[in-house]
Amino acid sequence: MAQFADVILPLPLEGIFTYRLPAAFAGLVQVGCRIIVPFGTTKFYSAIVVRLHDTPPSYNTKEATELLDSSPVVTSAQLKLWAWIADYYLCTIGDVYKAALPSGMKLESESCVMYNEEFIADDSLNPAEEKIIRELEEETTQTLSALQKRTGIRNILPVIKRLLERDAIHIREEVKRTYKPRFATYIKITEPYFSEEKLNETLSGLKRSAKQTEVLTCYASLSGLSAALALQNRQLLREITRQELTEYASCTPGVLKALCQKGILELYQKPVGRISVQNMPAELIMHPLSEDQLRAANQIKETWRHQDVCLLHGVTSSGKTEVYIHLIKEVIEEGKQVLFMLPEIVLTAQLTDRLKKVFGDRLGVYHSRYPDGERVEVYQKMLSDTPYDIIVGVRSSVFLPFRNLGLIIIDEEHETSFKQQDPAPRYQARNVALVMARAAGAKTLLGSATPSLESYFNAETGKYGLVQLNKRYGNVLLPQIEVVDMRETARKKMMNGPFTPQLTERIREALQHGKQVILFQNRRGYAPMMECRTCGWVPRCQKCDVSLTLHRNMRQLTCHYCGASYPIPPKCPNCGEQNLTGKGYGTERIEDCLQKVFPTARIARMDLDTTRSRQRYEQIIDDFQHFRTDILVGTQMVTKGLDFEKVSVVGILNAGTMLSQPDFRSYEHAFQMMEQVAGRAGRKNEQGYVVLQTQDTEASAIRQVVNHDYTAMYREQLEERSLFNYPPYCRLIYVYMKHRDERVLDSLSRDYANLLLKIFGQRILGPDTPPIAKVQMMFIRKIIIKIELTASMAEARKRLREIQKYITTLPQYKSALIYYDVD
Ligand code: ADP
Ligand code: ZN
Ligand code: ZN
Repeated sequence: MAQFADVILPLPLEGIFTYRLPAAFAGLVQVGCRIIVPFGTTKFYSAIVVRLHDTPPSYNTKEATELLDSSPVVTSAQLKLWAWIADYYLCTIGDVYKAALPSGMKLESESCVMYNEEFIADDSLNPAEEKIIRELEEETTQTLSALQKRTGIRNILPVIKRLLERDAIHIREEVKRTYKPRFATYIKITEPYFSEEKLNETLSGLKRSAKQTEVLTCYASLSGLSAALALQNRQLLREITRQELTEYASCTPGVLKALCQKGILELYQKPVGRISVQNMPAELIMHPLSEDQLRAANQIKETWRHQDVCLLHGVTSSGKTEVYIHLIKEVIEEGKQVLFMLPEIVLTAQLTDRLKKVFGDRLGVYHSRYPDGERVEVYQKMLSDTPYDIIVGVRSSVFLPFRNLGLIIIDEEHETSFKQQDPAPRYQARNVALVMARAAGAKTLLGSATPSLESYFNAETGKYGLVQLNKRYGNVLLPQIEVVDMRETARKKMMNGPFTPQLTERIREALQHGKQVILFQNRRGYAPMMECRTCGWVPRCQKCDVSLTLHRNMRQLTCHYCGASYPIPPKCPNCGEQNLTGKGYGTERIEDCLQKVFPTARIARMDLDTTRSRQRYEQIIDDFQHFRTDILVGTQMVTKGLDFEKVSVVGILNAGTMLSQPDFRSYEHAFQMMEQVAGRAGRKNEQGYVVLQTQDTEASAIRQVVNHDYTAMYREQLEERSLFNYPPYCRLIYVYMKHRDERVLDSLSRDYANLLLKIFGQRILGPDTPPIAKVQMMFIRKIIIKIELTASMAEARKRLREIQKYITTLPQYKSALIYYDVD
């Protein structure tokens, strides 16, 4: 048996570490298994074995203490992908490990565990487990190292692992999440009453109880009863919680109880959110494709015969999802797996529902905002003998273990949330997916109404196949767009807060006709800035170089870079006057203004502040979908692929703020956002209407949105990129440097740039001070490296690594932070 194991630690350290294996592991440990290893004097981590061998390293090895898995949890294909990511995105393999596995699978001495209050301890606990539970009952959240000290259990991890498996404890996640009950009470119609005849009979029998009749009718509409009856399939009923029904029908529990006693409705309990127990019938609802969609699907399959990647450019509401569904079905019928990637959460709920209806429990959802326990379950199921055939997930789903991948679909491929910004690995999941597909011999489909410039360029130059869907489903016209000049309106003193008369009129009209409205403003909070009207003083973050955003509902000023919050000063600390006011409009303030103009309208707001928990955003979407709200105000969250049938008007409150960002991609992004949000209008039956308010009516992005002319935007931007040498005509690596001391940082960035100059010459820009030059007490400098397409990126990365190695050995720069952002 092998005496040594090379392992990856979940730490941002270069390289692989070697540990000795105890004799007890003989024949048990495999590459891809987790073992517990000590690190430093007191710490321990779960490490991934990447190699087994008999060659002692030059240093004294420590012994691994525990073997956690009897079979690999990381496959060799995954390990290869990890290595590629670390190399390409210039980070360590430990960074990748940390991003790749859910927290519950990465036990380490600093992990925080939490007692699950709902766990009922019984006799089956062994003494060690009981000891830990008793400790956690005293203090519900503790780090593993603290627990180890207190309980005196030497090998604490296996015990923790067992308790985790029994759900007695949880690993605390970084993302805060509100408490979620384990079980919910659902309600449904009983078997005998599931018949048209019986139901009509009942309804006429209930005539004297108006309240009961109403509840039953509400239940029918919420659950989609008539459709289920028509198809004679009780499984098709949408599941309704008791709470949902009582709220919707605004009835007392007594009325429900009466209906249950009559045997018409029944209550049942169901765990919420746990993936393993969801039991949906599969293959039920699949629309036949329209002629255009069928043509597109066939063209896609045709391009796949000689190309691996295909771009589907389909206007909003052309029915791309239907095309995906048909392609997915064909792939899984061949016994292969499908990964369906989408941007951030808001999309997931609606889309997952739709896919679940078709594929039932052959489909698993993997999402970073889901409770960690669920993520572990999905991961483990993918390793099992009965993995999901389809995974729907956000960017981190590229880290799941697939065995037989046939297709990756990347929906809304232009979305920036596929790129991870912080922390490392700063990977672009779209590219990682392409690499993964290639390694697995799978095909890839990128889909968007507004493709990223890079992807469209690749399609035009023949690297990808290109398939177009130019018409909306049902031949509904693309929305009509009216551009309204805000400066002109302001000059005539006709602005009503953030609204032009044109927009107000359109909203009023929509509401009168029982339609819905979406308003888009790319700023959250009440006002993006606060200012003293007497002396011009602006409150700023003490740790960052930015002005603070006013959040009136939370009664505080917040820094959107570090999250710090401050009380609102009662008077100006600079001049002493009580003359501080909010400047500009955030979503919160728009909501306020709107309610004043339309006092009876039901308004909801969707932005980061209102959607911190999964239930909240699902609630907001659900309310809007079931017409419990009339107007939805939101940030770019509302621009993303949502499908609502009664939205007739979309308002873009200020296009200018998007066009004036200091990034070479800002123009492309502004177009994408506007086109996408416009696409939410008039998706079924009739043409929608968009009011686009802007300070600058001449900007060409405005004209391109009005004409829905993606190609014009593409050509213009491409020309600019070519002129100023930006991607796709070159590749970019940003080097970021951070330090607490600005003078040290300045000299570091100069030294670094000089070293880079020797190797990269003209390709270096900077060092520069970025627009936000200080975040969380750390000053920031940035150097840009532009590498031509013909040069070797691998070589460039190698040189960068060498320079970094050298620089970080210099004592004066020891505490500096250097990292890279590739592409
Ligand atoms: P996209 O993803 O291109 O924006 P969707 O797939 O969301 O478009 O489709 C828009 C709307 O049209 C959806 O409500 C969908 O149900 C409907 N639709 C699209 N294709 C079909 C079809 N073949 N049969 C029935 N309805 C369809
Ligand atoms: Zn002042
Ligand atoms: Zn700050």
